[in-house]
Amino acid sequence: TRTMASEKDKAQQAAAEGPPAAQQPTIFDKIVSKDIPATILYEDATALAFKDISPQAPVHFLVIPKKKTGLTGLSQATESHEQLLGHLLVVASKVAKQEKLQEGYRVVINDGKEGCQSVFHIHLHVLGGKQLGWPPC
Ligand code: IMP
Repeated sequence: TRTMASEKDKAQQAAAEGPPAAQQPTIFDKIVSKDIPATILYEDATALAFKDISPQAPVHFLVIPKKKTGLTGLSQATESHEQLLGHLLVVASKVAKQEKLQEGYRVVINDGKEGCQSVFHIHLHVLGGKQLGWPPC
């Protein structure tokens, strides 16, 4: 079983393990291949949305590309990823509507150590279902 370290601890541990290889598999590949279970909210040919295992708001889901194509994080984005990144945002919007977040929500991409990224397969967090605070730091 995985222990419940804080997101910051996990991100710092991941960073200490060195830069992730662009094609190194992560737990999200096992969710895409259905080798580990997830509550899937949306799926199409290129994207998957599923509930975060450790929700930080009443509604908290992730939107990922099924194939990360080098996108370990947003910092790796190039023009070749424009269509995919746009698609992930449109999926986030559709699933937010499906999850009845009509009062609003937040979309977050954590990148790298200072961004508290812990899984190196790009993902959008969508959080809502309550009044959120700002700033998030
Ligand atoms: P990051 O810190 O932005 O990289 O976010 C990674 C997210 O993935 C965290 O919010 C975790 O709770 C979530 N997560 C990690 N493993 C799983 C899983 O197996 N299922 C669903 N969400 C997961």
